[in-house]
Amino acid sequence: MLRVDLSGGSCREEPLDGSAARAFLGSKGYAARLLFRELAPGTDPLSPRNKVVIMTGPLTGTAGGPMPNRFSVCTRSPLTGTWVDSHCGGHFGPELKFAGWDGIVIEGRAERPVHLRIRDLEAGLVPATDLWGGGTFDTMRKIQGEEPAGRRRPRVLSMGPAGENLSRIAAVIADARAAGRGGTGAVLGSKNLKAISVAGTGKVPLADGQLFSALATEAREKLSGSQGLRDRTLEGTAANVRPVNASGGLPTRNFQSGRFEGFEDIAGDALARHLWNGSQNLRPCWGCVAPCAHFAALRYRGGGASPVGRGEMVVDDGPEYETVVLVGSNLGISDREAIAHADYLLDDWGLDTISFGNTLGFLIECFERGLMDERETGGVRLRWGDVALLHRAIGLAARREGPLGALLADGVRAASARIGKGSGGFAMHVKGLELPAYDPRQSPGQALAYAVSDRGACHLRPFMYGNEHFGRSPRLDPLAQEGRAREVKSGQERSALADALGVCKFYAYGLSLTRDMVPILNAATGLDYSPEEFLRVGERINNLTRMFNAREGFSAVDDALPPRCSEPLPEGRRAGVKLELSGMLAEYYRECGWDKDGVPTDAKLEELGLGFAARR
Ligand code: SF4
Repeated sequence: MLRVDLSGGSCREEPLDGSAARAFLGSKGYAARLLFRELAPGTDPLSPRNKVVIMTGPLTGTAGGPMPNRFSVCTRSPLTGTWVDSHCGGHFGPELKFAGWDGIVIEGRAERPVHLRIRDLEAGLVPATDLWGGGTFDTMRKIQGEEPAGRRRPRVLSMGPAGENLSRIAAVIADARAAGRGGTGAVLGSKNLKAISVAGTGKVPLADGQLFSALATEAREKLSGSQGLRDRTLEGTAANVRPVNASGGLPTRNFQSGRFEGFEDIAGDALARHLWNGSQNLRPCWGCVAPCAHFAALRYRGGGASPVGRGEMVVDDGPEYETVVLVGSNLGISDREAIAHADYLLDDWGLDTISFGNTLGFLIECFERGLMDERETGGVRLRWGDVALLHRAIGLAARREGPLGALLADGVRAASARIGKGSGGFAMHVKGLELPAYDPRQSPGQALAYAVSDRGACHLRPFMYGNEHFGRSPRLDPLAQEGRAREVKSGQERSALADALGVCKFYAYGLSLTRDMVPILNAATGLDYSPEEFLRVGERINNLTRMFNAREGFSAVDDALPPRCSEPLPEGRRAGVKLELSGMLAEYYRECGWDKDGVPTDAKLEELGLGFAARR
């Protein structure tokens, strides 16, 4: 582990705690244990006392492994006040491992902007005043351009102007991919840490290379034969636009409707044809066997405050499903090129696309309902379907410029608190984290998962919409709610395990965690997890992040959906059916072994080896 004290300007090596790694694996799990112990309750997320852990998993960077490229950015969130772990694929995580590091703990605050430079085991802080104010793409290009010829090109993680201006929806961007959620970019901004670059020339050691290689080859064959993954190679995650629209859960005009009249223009097949050159523009994460990720190369049409000139070529990964919907249908926009440009601008300025799309959609609805007018937006008219507004608003938010920028910069909960007038009824967030692009009213399992997720509304812990609408196993009826709590609990634990291992969650298209991943993990590490012990790790991680939040004052009252979710949708499988959350919540707490306030009991914590986290 690399520990970086920004206040003192020092970098030092410290050993990975072997017993913690056994009990919590890596990435989210290891970071949760470390931050639970090292962060005092009530730590201001934007103060020097907050810490950030950038962490890989035991499988990250393992050559030949199944999609082994993820790392996480973990901290206390300035957006929600909860625990946050935000994950990213690409190449940065593997490169950190090649350099010899499992993770980085960052603490304190630098007096002036700095860049953490890691070249194998040499790590140091260098001035970054010249990078301050720049977008994430420029930052990457400059740092890579400074590397002496003949040296390995470093991978760069950075935050943009949004992070510098402490926007609570600021993202961390690495290799044009985002660890977007929860405002982690603002935490780096508060620490004056502009960027981390890493180049590593080593390899990830394997305990039993031969066995690992045989098991990993078999796993990769299963993945490459998966039809679900092959579909994504052509259409990316945007393949979901069509089925989610058909199911009536495609967020449209701030979740006022679940079907969008312009969905054909933003569906995966349209993006593949017009933005990605079929499957030619693939840009896989490191070690991916069946890639879903594409890049779009377009001339910028202008329309907003932008670091890019009109007509200039811009290249960016995506847009992914979440972006396509939240800055597309959720704003009444079907212009896919405009959405791709917005994606580029959001990544460059360093904003989370999900949170931004939600916040702008919310403000447009406020404007439409007459809760605000041009006096509160600095003369800007807010309308659905306005591409120029979208592009302009991104720069305003990132710079906190003018009244509109100030309203956008801190997410939907803060905007609603400022506007008042009952706007909280349609401010779409859970615990302050804006809703992803699956309307929970069509999916009771997803609704419960949003409500109880440790970082606020999240579609990946677990992705229940897939079980209720896409035929994912176990296939579940969206009109039934019984037994949903058990599925959500199990899915959450599996999600935490994939995150803690450092693998892409699309492993689930062909592999089983217990049958495939446990033997691979054992061969890689030399440990001897049984499937039971391994599954227990997932439960342990979720109980610990729950206790992290409980210590910060969160309880059952915070496991709530936005008031709009109690109005049934007029279309789709659950048209006219009201969502009932309270019964599922009570069942979920019982399944988890938590009390009626949603807090893990002392007995449950002891059983999981988490006695240190119990309330005394
Ligand atoms: S499936 Fe997509 S997100 Fe996952 S590793 Fe491959 S390219 Fe990356």
